[in-house]
Amino acid sequence: MSKKIIDESNKYLMNTYARSPLILRKGRGMKVWDPDGKEYLDFVGGIAVNCLGHCHPKVVIALQKQAQRLLHVSNLFYIEPQIRLAKLLVTNSFADKAFICNSGTEATEAAIKLARKYAKDHTVPERYEIITAESSFHGRTLGSLSATGQTKMHKGFEPLTPGFKYVPFNNIGELKNGITRHTCGVMLEPIQGEGGVKVPDKNYLKHVREVCDDHGLLLILDEVQTGIGRTGTLFAYEQFHMEPDIICLGKGLGGGVAIGAILAKDAVAASFHHGSHGSTFGGNPLACTVAATTIETLLEDGYILDNCRRMGQYFIKRLEELKKEFPSTILDIRGMGLLIGMEIAKDGGAIVAACAERGILINCVQGNVLRFTPPLIVVEKEIDQLMDVLAEVLERV
Ligand SMILES: *Cc1c(COP(=O)(O)O)cnc(C)c1O
Repeated sequence: MSKKIIDESNKYLMNTYARSPLILRKGRGMKVWDPDGKEYLDFVGGIAVNCLGHCHPKVVIALQKQAQRLLHVSNLFYIEPQIRLAKLLVTNSFADKAFICNSGTEATEAAIKLARKYAKDHTVPERYEIITAESSFHGRTLGSLSATGQTKMHKGFEPLTPGFKYVPFNNIGELKNGITRHTCGVMLEPIQGEGGVKVPDKNYLKHVREVCDDHGLLLILDEVQTGIGRTGTLFAYEQFHMEPDIICLGKGLGGGVAIGAILAKDAVAASFHHGSHGSTFGGNPLACTVAATTIETLLEDGYILDNCRRMGQYFIKRLEELKKEFPSTILDIRGMGLLIGMEIAKDGGAIVAACAERGILINCVQGNVLRFTPPLIVVEKEIDQLMDVLAEVLERV
């Protein structure tokens, strides 16, 4: 049966993804099942999306109720769930205003437009250039792709959108050297996710903030992957003891439903006015209701964020133990909360496949960094199961 499904996928869908040969049909909490009923523990979590686990009952009920009430009306009208979501995001962050869109890449696009517009409104001579980091990832649409500091993703899509410059990540000197009279902002991920789960030095973002202030630049943090509890606080910037001017959100924001957002202070947000930016589906009642429910559930009693921090520590501790068993295979372990990477001296794809055969779903980025982004409700026993499988697989593959 699964062969037929995969054949049809290849027949009818464009070949944009190197998929695992797995069909997932059902999910609950940390678990997903294929059509034959085989069970998997999911340490991918939809790539840092399913923060509350699969089909969390509160999320499902909110979605069902909203689906019966109203799906879409457009931004020609006031939308209560959109206001509810914006209020939640603003009252729990540095920001004063939100703009709601439909995905991560749309969030980074909106941030780029807002930063350019703010520069046009406030500075002479013309500033438009945004400095981003090498090995960054900001999305796949042309502007976000151009902001992404990975040449392999640019290939074939040139000419790129002008106005971006890449500097080495986690290097203040190189960032300073990159600033010219055309620079209007800096855009960084607090932790580079797709680029290999790269965690900067503790004070890096604080220093970036100072450099931006010295030069009158806006600081955009792309928290599409790190946001919504992933690192153990609602937003990662909280743990770096600084505040950005704009943040980009996506992935976990909808708890499984497509949505994105940017947040900014009033002074910056004011550069968007009627007609500056927009989206047909952005802020629709269905996605906003689900996102608001997701955030409320995440923050409810602090349990989930606390669990994320505790399980993140436990996870790293167990990986360090594994590293002692496989000192020449495991090169590095890094991460914050439940955004964890393990760099290995082997082909990551083979490890991912061998884990899947044993009922454990993990992901690999950059060819040799195993990335773990499980739901934030994962428990010790499940992490132990992963470690047993990893130990066996690293031995054999
Ligand atoms: C995933 C990701 C994006 C793109 O989000 P999409 O929803 O896939 O468009 C942008 N920035 C970062 C940091 C991401 O991890």
